[in-house]
Amino acid sequence: MLTSKEYKESLKQLNTKVYAFGELLSNFSEDPLIRPHVESAAMTYECAHDPRFTDLATVNSHLTGKKVNRFTHIHHSTEDLIKKVKLLRMLGQQTGTCFQRCVGFDALNAVYSTTFDMDEKLGTEYHSRFKKYLQHIQDTDKMVAGSMTDPKGDRNLPPSKQEDPDMYVHVVKKDKDGIIVRGAKAHQTGIVNSHEFLVMPTIALTEEDKDYAVSCAIPVDASGVTHILGRQTNDSRKYDQIDQGNPRYGIVGGEALTILEDVFVPWERVFMCGEHEFSGSMVERFASFHRQNYGGCKTGVMDVMIGATAAAVEQVGVQKASHVRDKITEMVHLSETLYAGSIACSAEGVKLPSNAYYVNTMLANITKQNITRHIYEVSRLSHDLAGGFLATLPSEKDMADDQVGPMISKYLQGSGGAGSEARYRILRLLENMTGGTALVESMHGAGSPQAQRVMIFRQANLKHKKELAYKLCGLTMEGEVNNDT
Ligand code: SF4
Ligand code: FE
Repeated sequence: MLTSKEYKESLKQLNTKVYAFGELLSNFSEDPLIRPHVESAAMTYECAHDPRFTDLATVNSHLTGKKVNRFTHIHHSTEDLIKKVKLLRMLGQQTGTCFQRCVGFDALNAVYSTTFDMDEKLGTEYHSRFKKYLQHIQDTDKMVAGSMTDPKGDRNLPPSKQEDPDMYVHVVKKDKDGIIVRGAKAHQTGIVNSHEFLVMPTIALTEEDKDYAVSCAIPVDASGVTHILGRQTNDSRKYDQIDQGNPRYGIVGGEALTILEDVFVPWERVFMCGEHEFSGSMVERFASFHRQNYGGCKTGVMDVMIGATAAAVEQVGVQKASHVRDKITEMVHLSETLYAGSIACSAEGVKLPSNAYYVNTMLANITKQNITRHIYEVSRLSHDLAGGFLATLPSEKDMADDQVGPMISKYLQGSGGAGSEARYRILRLLENMTGGTALVESMHGAGSPQAQRVMIFRQANLKHKKELAYKLCGLTMEGEVNNDT
């Protein structure tokens, strides 16, 4: 297993092409725009070597029996699923942000079980091929990004009917050596500081779209791959310290738009090529695994938010007011409810034909749907309690200035000796965690809310629920009176 230092060093060996602000970054992994995301992902490596976290962060590979970083593991029990949630919560607490590596973790698990099912039904050899790839990832402890979301163009049209055929990643050529793919993947969490990315289709596909049914693994610095880093709220503050709020780990995952310009992928790295009937199941598995996560990582992040809010109210001496205690109680209640959802969908996990374990999809979708609301409410309450300085603090450069710095210090003193710098640090941290990009990520990460509602309705089993109601009120399923019930 790599150490965090080895992970960071390994990024320097890559020729990853990353653009930001109209420029190609020359030393991308140490650029201030990316470094915090590297540090946050590095925590997934560090924890594997920390004796306090070994049980959560490491596990024995089912392929080799060797100890591996859990982020490269295939879940083989509900205990594995629960440990994943606990690991993510712990990492959220340590970093206060997204540590990115779960996307590839979920992609590995989705592709593992789906390729097994494909081989069973179609007689293909994708699963054994994928197992070799997985072992390579486990042995080298590489960080894999999970690449699902296509740009999608006109949402009314399937991939092959788009005016521009590249709106979804597709296979443009096949030969004896491999395939050539073209298109783009959007919102790619952690991809710029990963080693590889695992491409999957983004929707269930039909025969006419079979060229879009493609899953394959690509090095992030492969020829023809370009990453364009997303702009974040307040990202110019990455050149500051205190004003950054969370200077070491940043906010969310350094998402990028990744372009694939006729990228060659050898067959040993191709895990779906035309088998459109399995695209839906790969998408659903990946999405449900990723939705499982949000009551873990976001709850860890919320632990930090709640802590910062409690500190902010103490700094002005209002911590004992009953409405303050009540609002903090509400924040904790919402956060723990989300955690309960992630634990529940893991505890109710099921074994798939491949022997790998899968979450309870209804509960995973409910969990993510709740995140899209509760994190806004938790953030709203933190804004309510932290007060207006959350939005109107002068910059850290003013605080350091000879002229106005002392004025700020004088007027920003708090209660019980809380100095202005301590207030700055806490408020900036909260601002960072509860602001623009971070909240939008909670809304749309792991799929937009409507995607969860579609799955929730599909799995609602309304027929069974109606049967329960009809039976109790003396009706048949046809709605006629049935006095025998
Ligand atoms: Fe992992 Fe959470 Fe980041 Fe998704 S949002 S990659 S689950 S830390
Ligand atoms: Fe996310």
